Amino acid sequence: MYRHTLNRARIGLEITTVSPLLIRAGDTGLDPARADLSCVRTRHAALGSTVYVPGSSAKGVIRAAAESLIRGMGRVKGVVAACDPLNHRASCGGTVAKKQSTAAIHAGHCLACRLFGSTMLRGRCAVRDLFPFRPDDTAPTDNFVAANRTETRSGVGIDRIAGSVKVGPFESEMVPAGVWFAGDIALTNVQAWQLGLLAAGLRELDDGFAQLGSTKSRGLGVVSVTVKRVTFEQTIRGPEAPVGVGRLSAGDDYGLLPERDLPSLGAGRVQGLVRRFEAEGPAADGWLKATEEALGALA
Ligand SMILES: [Zn+2]
Repeated sequence: MYRHTLNRARIGLEITTVSPLLIRAGDTGLDPARADLSCVRTRHAALGSTVYVPGSSAKGVIRAAAESLIRGMGRVKGVVAACDPLNHRASCGGTVAKKQSTAAIHAGHCLACRLFGSTMLRGRCAVRDLFPFRPDDTAPTDNFVAANRTETRSGVGIDRIAGSVKVGPFESEMVPAGVWFAGDIALTNVQAWQLGLLAAGLRELDDGFAQLGSTKSRGLGVVSVTVKRVTFEQTIRGPEAPVGVGRLSAGDDYGLLPERDLPSLGAGRVQGLVRRFEAEGPAADGWLKATEEALGALA
């Protein structure tokens, strides 16, 4: 889309487990002591091995929650609200003609793909991995220790017709309830409604209508979501208050939706070529929630 950055946002999140969480590792490796279904892990230079929430897993559930909210809208200002990304032939990535300008490709995508991306269009938002420690931690904190004190549950797969045990018993490894994972979502060149759609997806997760990880049907993966920090920057050529990218770009041919002002973030400060706004704590959480109004305005 745009060759340069007109606005960008970094949303610092904390996801806290309300029920045990299993994000399944693709391969449990050769360790015979590991459960049959084990959690994903990475290695921290100072803290050692740790469980974490991959950004791709978090993005997948936020996207699915956001899509299910808007799919019922059908079309919004002539644009499909949400395609079916799992059905290639019905998805934007599978139906948009390839040999077009990037503007035409963008205009041919649904609202969900315009935020989260498709095989043909880079999304406006990137969800980074979430960890049970702060970037500057050099020793394990209580939260780090609790996250890595995983629980093991055993289960069986039941044959639906015979009613007998079909698979198992197998063991699954869970991150316990009451542990936080922190990470960032980065957005570039966003419209006000796109922040609103992200906020709506996060709210679905926070309200328990969407769950994170595997085996959700057993009530696992319920989390609470809190925005801890917001940093928003826009070009100094724009107005003094935060606005969506539609107010910052001249001669728009990307088929953008009607633009809105963003909720106030106080007085920004000029730093080189950008005006920078910051909020922390409840102000940051409230700000992102308030962007949902821009999504509602499209209906
Ligand atoms: Zn789409």
